[in-house]
Amino acid sequence: MSPGLRLGGMVPLTTTDYPGGLAAVLFCQGCPWRCAYCQNTHLIPPKGERELAWSDVLAFLRRRIGLLDAVVFSGGEPSLQQAIVAAARQVRGMGFKLGLHTAGPYPERLAEVLPELDWVGMDVKAGFADYAATTGVPGSGAKAQASARLLLESGIAHEFRTTWHPALMSAERLRALARTLAGMGVRRFALQAFRATGCADAGLNAAPAVRIDEEMLAELAQMFAEFVYRPA
Ligand code: SF4
Repeated sequence: MSPGLRLGGMVPLTTTDYPGGLAAVLFCQGCPWRCAYCQNTHLIPPKGERELAWSDVLAFLRRRIGLLDAVVFSGGEPSLQQAIVAAARQVRGMGFKLGLHTAGPYPERLAEVLPELDWVGMDVKAGFADYAATTGVPGSGAKAQASARLLLESGIAHEFRTTWHPALMSAERLRALARTLAGMGVRRFALQAFRATGCADAGLNAAPAVRIDEEMLAELAQMFAEFVYRPA
């Protein structure tokens, strides 16, 4: 049975997208938000120029049983498509562990798919009251906050991650965001410095490379059981 999931691409093997395991990453097409620093703008339209047939993806995964540990649904925004729920069940039924990258715009669908997941990487764009400045969509912060709560309540292993550019979020707001996440019960937080690669915003790209000082990193590290910094 085809769940009709629209996929714009696949990475057949990665060592970095699922914690502690070899994984394939499936890039879902479509995203309701418009973040200025998006590096996957080709995946934002609901239908892309390149489309992978679900049947071909399943055939590929069948050949990887016993060779790959996990499959990660990424995007775009995987939870945009209702078909993600059936697709997740199907892939998990093949014996793979399952990961999801999400920014949390669809908490109801996230709730449906969470029982199938072993790990979630959740993007947090800004303080929940400030989301629209980054995503361009009013009300996006409330959706992300609801999704974050669902994920934390589920007890599923997680990484919350924020991409930081000082033009989009001041250092003080970044500190406040980290405090909010720690207060919600986030255990692992990753701070990613903005990278120009793939970003279509000329203004952000023209700014000097983002650097985060040691004092700030030490402060953030103290707030979480696990903290990771990914420089530009
Ligand atoms: S939520 Fe992710 S995929 Fe969607 S626009 Fe923002 S960065 Fe791009």
